[in-house]
Amino acid sequence: MKILLNYIDGTLKPPVSGEYLDNINPARGEVYAKIPDSDARDVADAVDAARRAFPAWAGLPAEKRSDFLLSLADLVDSHVDELALAESIDTGKPLALAKHMDIARASVNLRFYATAILHFASSAHPMEGLATNYTVHRPVGVAGCISPWNLPLYLFTWKIAPALAAGNCVVAKPSELAPMTAFLFSELCIQAGMPAGVLNIVHGLGAKAGQAIVEHPEVPLISFTGGSSTGKRIAVTAAPMLKRLSLELGGKNPTIVFSDCDFDEAVKNTVRSSFLNQGEICLCGSRIFVERKIYGKFKRAFLQEVAQLSIGDPLHPDTFIGAVISEAHAQKVMDYIQLAKEEGGNILIGGKRHLMEKEHAGGFFILPTVIEGLSYDCRCNQEEIFGPVVSIMPFDTMEEVLHDANSTPYGLAANIWTLNVQKAHQVAQQLDAGIVWVNCWLLRDLRTPFGGVKQSGIGREGGFEALQFFTESKNICIKH
Ligand code: NAD
Repeated sequence: MKILLNYIDGTLKPPVSGEYLDNINPARGEVYAKIPDSDARDVADAVDAARRAFPAWAGLPAEKRSDFLLSLADLVDSHVDELALAESIDTGKPLALAKHMDIARASVNLRFYATAILHFASSAHPMEGLATNYTVHRPVGVAGCISPWNLPLYLFTWKIAPALAAGNCVVAKPSELAPMTAFLFSELCIQAGMPAGVLNIVHGLGAKAGQAIVEHPEVPLISFTGGSSTGKRIAVTAAPMLKRLSLELGGKNPTIVFSDCDFDEAVKNTVRSSFLNQGEICLCGSRIFVERKIYGKFKRAFLQEVAQLSIGDPLHPDTFIGAVISEAHAQKVMDYIQLAKEEGGNILIGGKRHLMEKEHAGGFFILPTVIEGLSYDCRCNQEEIFGPVVSIMPFDTMEEVLHDANSTPYGLAANIWTLNVQKAHQVAQQLDAGIVWVNCWLLRDLRTPFGGVKQSGIGREGGFEALQFFTESKNICIKH
């Protein structure tokens, strides 16, 4: 059985406690690896190492830091098959998705920030005849980066790449439910000759290792992606120390289909946006509002496509829906399906666990589920389920759909389907969301701001916004 180790001060180390947690393969329901049950002592070692490494790393020319990140991206590319297999086994996601989305994007993240930092210039503000101001961006110190299980290496690199590129040293904690690719990444860091202490990876529980990072007084900024309730806890812990926070949290995203859409494209993409990665993407649409004129037709076509989705062994090349992350999460999703029935919902398809045989008999599979007849304001339409479950509802007017779409406490992403440009603009402008896709979904340009409004988060990642988060701006004013 594989035993993972922390990556601290350039070397792989067991946790100080000597204790390990089980790492479970969700497609089999079996323990297949052990991960360090780290605590505040491991975090303190990691922070010390990061602090020692900081002056030299921050003092390197940006081109040198860029070179290290590019070497890491090259190593990710040359290990893509191994990393994708590890990601699929660790999370239950289809292997093909892990390869083409998760690992491919991890490499792109590293390259993007390796090159972005070379264009992150200072600005000058001359005061004619009086003085000149120039503003420099300095790295802050030790950054705490805490990431979730749904897109493990993808979101891990999305945080550490801008932090490191900007000259910070990092103490990172991947999710205890999907730690494997971060561990393999630490081996790649050693191979790439990353200077000791620049990146430190501490594995373990959120309430213990994660909390210790947030509590540590020498970690002045925290970049967190995960659930909204965890985000709130982090904000409470960080507030008395006035730490800088970037919080990327949950969502309950609306998909709005108008009758004047490209019907086939809308159906095909709504299937994808509902069920890709078992619906375990913060950007997935989980409330589908369809204009009443085409509601029946859309529902039939949508259900026909959903019925054809292949569910099963994540390692099989044809699988579209794999296992959800854990037994506890599967139970939470099933509890919401039960609640939907109690709230008056009618299960149009799915609604059950998908039972498999042999080595997958203990796996956590849930059939893609579509529910009709729920009111916009019931719990199943307001709370994040984060699984292969969507609710479909008819609407009559733009005002009505805007009201219902904006009714949740969340505001991460939204998806609009219409060929009427004016309508697309009108609706997009009025939706409570940080990201709106019109006639597409998950089309990402990494230069654009990424983040949510309301309880979906604070701050923006992506592009120069992330580099701004990971740096302090200092203005220097020189009198002529
Ligand atoms: P989670 O909040 O349970 O855990 C996220 C990370 O935080 C994990 O590494 C966990 O160990 C750690 N953690 C838990 N408690 C902590 C604490 N007290 N202090 C510090 N760290 C702590 O979330 P999850 O279940 O791993 O991920 C699913 C959630 O993430 C969903 O709500 C989803 O919408 C959200 N998400 C958001 C985005 C986004 O960009 N907005 C992207 C992906 C996932």
